[in-house]
Amino acid sequence: MCGIIGCVQRGGDCWPRVYDGLKRLEYRGYDSVGVAVLDQNAIGIRKKKGGADALADAYLKGGAGIGHTRWATHGAPSDENAHPHAAGKFALVHNGIVENFAALKEELVAAGEVFLSETDSEVIVKLISRAYTGDFLRAVRDGCARLEGSYAIAVLCEDFPDTVVCAKCKSPLVAGTGADGVYVCSDIPALSGVCGSICPASDGELICLVGQRVLFYDFNLNAVDKTFTPSDGGSAVRERGAFTSYMEEEIADIPRALSDTYAALKGMDFTACARKLAAAERIFAVACGTAFHSTLSFRFVAEKCLGVPVICERASEFRYKTRLIQKDDVLVAVSQSGETADTAEAVKRAKAAGAYVVSVTNVRHSTIAALSDTNVPMRANAEIAVAATKSYNCQLMCLFTLAAEACCKKTGVYPSFYYDLPALSFAAREAFSCFPEVDALASRLKEKSAMYFLGRDADFVTAVEGALKVKEIAYVFSEGYPAGELKHGTLALVEKGFPVIAIVTQKSLAKKTENAVAEVIARGGYVALFSPFESVLKESAAQFCCKIPAVREELAGAVSVIPLQYFALRMCQLRGHDPDKPRNLAKSVTVE
Ligand code: GLU
Repeated sequence: MCGIIGCVQRGGDCWPRVYDGLKRLEYRGYDSVGVAVLDQNAIGIRKKKGGADALADAYLKGGAGIGHTRWATHGAPSDENAHPHAAGKFALVHNGIVENFAALKEELVAAGEVFLSETDSEVIVKLISRAYTGDFLRAVRDGCARLEGSYAIAVLCEDFPDTVVCAKCKSPLVAGTGADGVYVCSDIPALSGVCGSICPASDGELICLVGQRVLFYDFNLNAVDKTFTPSDGGSAVRERGAFTSYMEEEIADIPRALSDTYAALKGMDFTACARKLAAAERIFAVACGTAFHSTLSFRFVAEKCLGVPVICERASEFRYKTRLIQKDDVLVAVSQSGETADTAEAVKRAKAAGAYVVSVTNVRHSTIAALSDTNVPMRANAEIAVAATKSYNCQLMCLFTLAAEACCKKTGVYPSFYYDLPALSFAAREAFSCFPEVDALASRLKEKSAMYFLGRDADFVTAVEGALKVKEIAYVFSEGYPAGELKHGTLALVEKGFPVIAIVTQKSLAKKTENAVAEVIARGGYVALFSPFESVLKESAAQFCCKIPAVREELAGAVSVIPLQYFALRMCQLRGHDPDKPRNLAKSVTVE
């Protein structure tokens, strides 16, 4: 999604660092790019619709700079709407949404201000400029005081050389120090390898980069003492090596990610959160997108081994149900980035109700990790492709472990699936042997405009995740359904050649799913069946059968999803799209 970088460079030439930061932010998905640099007492701005390459030939001299990758919320992607926006002596970049921008704009227009863009962000720089009486920090604070919604901003002022002032509310912002300068960014990978230590800002805080110092202030402009921690090399943006896309590289990295996550979990102290989970009479689980599907898998395992209901809710909907959450409840929140705005809001509301919050994130120094009572960190390492793959497998590893730890606390013994967790990494690698067959399937289905994914119980979760991947990157309408639900309505769409992908990893349910397969075939549909059971595949009427690795049924989702991830990748490539940057989508969704 949108990204911010700001810096004051020791050598006085910030352009290379700001531009490099924008390149590193590219993976988040965005539509325009821009930089402002302060040289002596003049601000230069370069901004363009398109990727960082649009500024490849640009350069601005000066030691303090701010850069932005925009994911448009208000106003189409265009040169004019790209950030930075300027007013008076100021230039500003903004991540987030100003919810009351229409009222503010009306007020500013009535006061004679002329707007050059359609963005909500331009009101911020105008407010700051109008509030300015010589005190940069105070003007930024006073401008922000008028805002409702979310923002992370970085601002330059022509009166203050070597200074960048930033503010944060509900959008991520991290300060960092490095050998060559001091920095802020919205996303730690933008500064990986650049900063030796980092410190995230909290909501309501301002950061001032001045000379080679980083100062934090609260909203009353009192200095705040913050602790910098060594930056996490694990979040570094990698090269994609010989792979043609990051998504491909990330699928290939799943075995490593699973074994690293398993090793990290072995070293973690689960005592407090396992006690809370074991004592809970019900558990809530919230997330968005793919992470939401991992909460459905958690439900499957946790309800079985803890015997209490797990209520899964999309984080964006959870806010309308918060009256249900109480003091003794536990909320499990899952977010790859740890910055997903809807999930962060759900966490805040659960905390306000007195509930205990356990989060699973891929980024240790994230907002959601900081808000939680316990953070379970996965070790997927940076996931660059917008569509999640290895982070999903790792989320399942974390959530299965969480359920097993809680079960052990409750019953005195680990559930037997716990002992199979280290084998998941091996089974994941084994799943790669399905790829040539999956390739053939994708070639066969590449022209289709719709498909279903079917599964029962835990396989239903894999079905919805497979369908989401295909929608996200291949732009093919696809739906995941419980196999038994087909005949209650959705079968109406099945006609000659309509593709249905079925997953069976629980032998006891194979016969029932086979009924759905038969119903599809009877109507001329084309069924591809994925199962670890030779007998199930042999007896099926499906036209395409693929044997996947055998894994205990509680854990199967972490492996059976891999051929479907690869299927989506190949569908995407065969249809001529870029799997890493699907249209309209962004990596971490930091707006509500
Ligand atoms: N809402 C602002 C805009 O549409 C900022 C979007 C972003 O966070 O990139 O320009």
